[in-house]
Amino acid sequence: MAKKALSDFAIAGGEPVFDRIRSISNLVRPDRERFFEYSRLMFDSGQYSGGSIDALLEERLARFHETRHCISFCGGFWGLVLSMQCLALPGRTEVVMPSLTYRRLADIVAWAGLTPHYCEVDPVRLCITAETARPCINERTALLLGVHPIVNCCDADGLERLSAETGIPLMFDSVESAYETYRGRKVGAFGRAECFSMQSSKLFNASEGGYVTTQDDELAQRLRRKRRLGLSADGVWREPGMNAVQSEIHAAMALSTLDGVHEQVRANRVRYLRYASGLAAVPQLRLLRFDEAERHGFKNIVVEIGSDWPITRQRTLELLHAENMLCRAYYSPALHQKKTGYAMVWGDLQQTERFAERFLMLPCGYFVSEEDVDRICEFLGDIVRHGPSLVARQAQEARTP
Ligand SMILES: *Cc1c(COP(=O)(O)O)cnc(C)c1O
Repeated sequence: MAKKALSDFAIAGGEPVFDRIRSISNLVRPDRERFFEYSRLMFDSGQYSGGSIDALLEERLARFHETRHCISFCGGFWGLVLSMQCLALPGRTEVVMPSLTYRRLADIVAWAGLTPHYCEVDPVRLCITAETARPCINERTALLLGVHPIVNCCDADGLERLSAETGIPLMFDSVESAYETYRGRKVGAFGRAECFSMQSSKLFNASEGGYVTTQDDELAQRLRRKRRLGLSADGVWREPGMNAVQSEIHAAMALSTLDGVHEQVRANRVRYLRYASGLAAVPQLRLLRFDEAERHGFKNIVVEIGSDWPITRQRTLELLHAENMLCRAYYSPALHQKKTGYAMVWGDLQQTERFAERFLMLPCGYFVSEEDVDRICEFLGDIVRHGPSLVARQAQEARTP
């Protein structure tokens, strides 16, 4: 129902648009029979980790990404940490990476014992490019970390050329591009390694989990050791490692979502197109479009807030949250703007700081229906229509002690 008056907004005591939360998390629910089938295999085998279900998952994912190897982990986080430790140039400390990115990515670099060196982002793709990374390279640079943005991909070819030219190893955080192609080539075999997450908010839901793909036999072998306390297949200790293995029950969950991924993507695309048509009536918000010449997961819905949008982004978030739409500022604050307990390096990041103020993620995923999308777009239109009274109310709130 449209908000006819200011008093209809939930912040003013009106009925919220949704009685249950609609979030930006994917939370895809696999086919239950398939999940039970894989789980029964796990149960009957009596093996709870390092068994045949996880081996099958790795094989399926390697085929999906068209790579030689896939190594699973208990989370995307540890797959990234261990890949960084394997690939960083010895004796060097800095990882060149964007600041406008996943909010925990710098923690991952710090856990790997390295220091983030933040680069600018490309103004169109909103991500690291060879041009933005190049000025950050110095005699301390250990690694280039290409991070795919949440809509479309970064220029993986350009980063590969920069890596070849400078001799600095390149790996990718490809969590948000698990389904995509770049220039017709499947994401998974770019750089020395690509890292993915199977946390429930991502495209492949294993509840928790992650994996790394690579074409490099030696790296694959090292990652397998490092995720299992540094032990080789024959149980001999080779190098420092940790316990980061994926459990069989999580692998069962992952396989059942993997079985339904194309269907999921079709549903995501329908939602995305519904947003595209609904938001046409709200020109103050610009939807970030997926480049239809490539393959996409169509999961994330991101809008840029125009200068003619009536209220601040912060206020917009407050209004949306009150209506049970758990929207999020897109990558805000930028990583260099956050307090952390570790060292970070950066120069001029004006563009990043500007972009960190401008974007919003809208509800998506399994629990958001097409009708929900219509109601979300209608509510955004309501904000525009009631813009002046919303501004007046906020000013009044500010005056009231
Ligand atoms: C979620 C996410 C991660 C971390 O994955 P987990 O499995 O949750 O540890 C890393 N990078 C990006 C871009 C992410 O979105």
